[in-house]
Amino acid sequence: MSDGLAARAEELRELVRRWDYAYHVLDRPEVADATYDAAYLELRQLEEAHPELVTPDSPTQRVGSQLGEQFAKVRHRSPMLSLQNAFDEEEIRAWDKRVRGVVGDEVVYIGELKIDGLAISLTYSGGRLVRAATRGDGMTGEDVTANIRTLKSVPLSLTPLRGLPEEFEVRGEVYFPLEAFEKLNQQVAAAGRERYVNPRNTAAGSVRQLDPRVTGSRNLQTFMYTLDPAGSARSQWEVLDGLEGMGFRVNPHRRRLAGIEEVIAFHRHWHDHRQELAHEIDGVVLKVDRHDHQLELGFVSRSPRWAIAYKYAPEEGESVIEEISVYVGRTGVLTPVAHIRPLIVGGVTVRNVTMHNESQVNAKGIHVGAEVVVRRAGDVIPEIVSVKDPKPGWRMPARCPVCGGEVIREEPYIAHRCINPFCPAQRMERLRHFASRLAMNIEGLGYSTVEQVLEKKLAAEPADLFRIPAGQWEELEHFGPKSAENMVARLAGARNPTLARFLYSLGIPQVGEATAEVLAAELGSLDRIRNASEEELRGVESVGPSLATEIRHFFAGQGGELVQHLLDVGVQPKEAAPRGEGPFSGKTFVFTGTLETMSRPDAEGAGAILGRQGRRQRQRQD
Ligand code: NAD
Repeated sequence: MSDGLAARAEELRELVRRWDYAYHVLDRPEVADATYDAAYLELRQLEEAHPELVTPDSPTQRVGSQLGEQFAKVRHRSPMLSLQNAFDEEEIRAWDKRVRGVVGDEVVYIGELKIDGLAISLTYSGGRLVRAATRGDGMTGEDVTANIRTLKSVPLSLTPLRGLPEEFEVRGEVYFPLEAFEKLNQQVAAAGRERYVNPRNTAAGSVRQLDPRVTGSRNLQTFMYTLDPAGSARSQWEVLDGLEGMGFRVNPHRRRLAGIEEVIAFHRHWHDHRQELAHEIDGVVLKVDRHDHQLELGFVSRSPRWAIAYKYAPEEGESVIEEISVYVGRTGVLTPVAHIRPLIVGGVTVRNVTMHNESQVNAKGIHVGAEVVVRRAGDVIPEIVSVKDPKPGWRMPARCPVCGGEVIREEPYIAHRCINPFCPAQRMERLRHFASRLAMNIEGLGYSTVEQVLEKKLAAEPADLFRIPAGQWEELEHFGPKSAENMVARLAGARNPTLARFLYSLGIPQVGEATAEVLAAELGSLDRIRNASEEELRGVESVGPSLATEIRHFFAGQGGELVQHLLDVGVQPKEAAPRGEGPFSGKTFVFTGTLETMSRPDAEGAGAILGRQGRRQRQRQD
């Protein structure tokens, strides 16, 4: 054996140990899961090929990680193991073949969801919860009883199933429901603090709090799946039923699967439907159902042979920041966008990651050249999870990158704004927003058309669009006589929008679709809204003082002129149902996932249109 291999094994051990510590103890992963998994696999394969390289302290010889200092240590009744992994069909078929080789072709599997949380062990004695522990290094965990007692789905006392001894253990997963996670992030954003990036590590951090009240405030949830010993249960299916019978929360999406084709279909089904779940999953878990079969199969070093995690493609990956540019929105707010080396993550290619503002760039220490972990879960906007070598100090430009106008930062807002109302970027965004699907819904007014309209000076503000004759539309690229006529007809047909759409289309700062709906439903007419005092506006549900000021400010200034010009060209919003009869009366609105400085469609579009702004910026400099 060469010294090179020994050195490589040592290097991998060091890396895996370090990453385990960051992930399991600090709840702050340094690298993407795929990178961790690759290093771990390489180490395991190296050790399998050269058993003399295995050291007793190798991370392959144990589960999890070393323990933190804050909590008392608890020895588990039996080790809390990890699971073998399969990442593709070939691997899962190979596992099935091995299992059938031992217990025969009649084997039945139980398919469960692989909840992306952290493992927890609960000890009951005399029917009472006496201890709760994290998995820790698999042998010894941390005593988090006081914290786990705050979780409402964990029974503090219960009637044990028939056949259970005085003391037994129940194991399962603690996780962050997505809605609770989003709420927590709204709270931290409102307090001006950094958002949490992923529910799994945040759940782990919440369980390992020194103050149980913090854990209690997080609305964590549980699903349990193991009973040790199993009492009279003879199979995993009976264990799950038994746990449910004792009052534990058990995931309802469990299935009996006869044969590998059903396993593959189960995996595919949840791949396609995982967005519908209230929590994240990172795969499905397959377990041999019968306990006597499990016994026959036994264990490999740190996982049972009778179970396997069949995982989904990672939602995190690593990349490098190639450039940070600045996008100018319709209200003049400047938003930094990090351009990364293209990365396939969560099933799509990510090139741009939108940041909220200068403070967020610096809080994360993002800089050009930084190696970063990027996450994109479901249809959530990609985010930067961590930066390998953080360096704060990035500054927003002092002048608008598009028009060169003055940039100010209005206290107490954290956003920077270009205050030139004639800034072409803002004009373009305002026109685009006005015509967009959720606003006036005028088809055919995409970025390239709006850009030409502005360049040819056919329109500077929304009202002008209604005055452009067919002959002038026809001169634009991609337009012919027919499409020009259609555009004029579409604009004419859009003259009577609902009041809510009209309000939204104006682009009043902080007024999204939901707020526009509430304003329309509660105040009923455009006249009433544009003449409303701040006090009257504050009386509308979910309109706070800063929003009331913003709305008043808008109508008193240029916004009022913009509205008058629209009325002058014959745009007339329909009056809404009077207060108390509208579809929104008596309802409470929950605004989820809003960014501080731009709406979600804006944020998603930001990367795509930056190219245009960049082009214009370069032209201006030439
Ligand atoms: P694992 O997450 O692959 O699988 C085992 C765990 O799955 C169990 O402990 C249990 O907590 C959980 N689980 C969820 N639903 C379950 C169910 N229905 N039945 C049984 N178990 C269920 O393995 P692991 O040992 O917990 O951790 C390894 C994972 O952590 C890997 O995905 C690895 O990529 C990641 N990790 C990442 C880093 C990093 O730096 N990014 C570091 C260490 C570990």
